[in-house]
Amino acid sequence: MRGSGRRRRGRGEIHKLTAAAIFKAAAATSFVLDRAVQIHGGSGYMRDTEVNRLYRTGRVLEVGAGTQEVRKLIISGELLKN
Ligand SMILES: Cc1cc2nc3c(=O)[nH]c(=O)nc-3n(C[C@H](O)[C@H](O)[C@H](O)COP(=O)(O)OP(=O)(O)OC[C@H]3O[C@@H](n4cnc5c(N)ncnc54)[C@H](O)[C@@H]3O)c2cc1C
Repeated sequence: MRGSGRRRRGRGEIHKLTAAAIFKAAAATSFVLDRAVQIHGGSGYMRDTEVNRLYRTGRVLEVGAGTQEVRKLIISGELLKN
């Protein structure tokens, strides 16, 4: 992109932005699904309902493929470098 006025991003910055995007998406998903379970009351808590299946499926975004805490460590590590 030389000459286009766009800044070239380093590997660390890409890791930081990726971790931040996944962190935000995972947190938003968990928040929405938590509210959905609450709105459905007792049926949202029961394991054989669709909303409960979605809650358990979505919750893994905060744990699988790197946890939210590790994403924060990546973001803060990059911020402290600069
Ligand atoms: C459904 C599912 C599918 C998965 N698929 C894959 C896969 O395909 N490939 C793969 O490689 N892994 C996969 N995983 C593993 C997943 O990436 C790990 O569960 C995750 O990295 C957390 O590791 P852990 O379970 O050993 O927890 P731990 O490392 O024991 O962490 C436990 C808790 O402590 C926190 N913690 C740990 N270290 C720190 C620290 N330094 N600072 C702050 N907090 C910390 C964590 O954030 C977490 O909340 C999968 C997990 C699940 C549940």
